[in-house]
Amino acid sequence: MADSRQVISILNRIGRKMEEQKDYLTELDGPIGDSDHGINLARGFRAVEEKLPGLEDKDLGTILKTAGMALVSTVGGASGPLYGSAYMKAGMVLAGKTEIQMGDFLQAMDAAVEAVMQRGKATVEEATMLDAMVPAVKAMKEAEASGAEAGEILEAGCRAAWAGAEHTKDLIATKGRASYVGERGLGHQDPGATSFSFMLEVVKDAVAGSDTAEE
Ligand code: ADP
Ligand code: MG
Repeated sequence: MADSRQVISILNRIGRKMEEQKDYLTELDGPIGDSDHGINLARGFRAVEEKLPGLEDKDLGTILKTAGMALVSTVGGASGPLYGSAYMKAGMVLAGKTEIQMGDFLQAMDAAVEAVMQRGKATVEEATMLDAMVPAVKAMKEAEASGAEAGEILEAGCRAAWAGAEHTKDLIATKGRASYVGERGLGHQDPGATSFSFMLEVVKDAVAGSDTAEE
């Protein structure tokens, strides 16, 4: 599916997507938070981009751990440590590998979900990024089990992630800043569920293009 150089390219593309969607993600964080989610992630992924050059020959564990550490150390908001540990734990699963197949990706995604649950002391239906991540991973595993190929699996994952992000409008947040607004959060889409959906979309588009590695 992708080698170290291609994974670095995907991380850089995620950074560009966060920059592109910075205002939108920040707007979503207005009514239920402190209007900084897009700003946080754009800053975090700029730091990721600065750390990646020179790692093209390293294993995926090193690359993802480096990215995760950059997020933890540059993002002040909750999403920094949460996404940071997700990338780091995913990296632990991929340690020693310089190529990733769909099976590895799904294991890494499981570890990422686990990391967010542990770090955020959260589960599904609490109006967080987990409401996009968990259904996405479930849909991808189901698609894989039914014999779908990588592109279709990632498409199924993206559809489930966006549906999950949409569903956060119906949930009252019980974790993070959004929990402070209680019922007033109803009708608002969770910024973290949205940023995760954008990240998975980048992976899907990169894998779908035969130009996976091209910048
Ligand atoms: P902050 O809330 O500190 O300003 P951000 O705005 O960058 O940080 O990120 C907010 C997002 O982080 C939320 O939309 C939600 O998806 C996610 N989040 C916050 N707290 C938790 C938690 N305890 N568990 C899982 N996700 C969380
Ligand atoms: Mg915020």
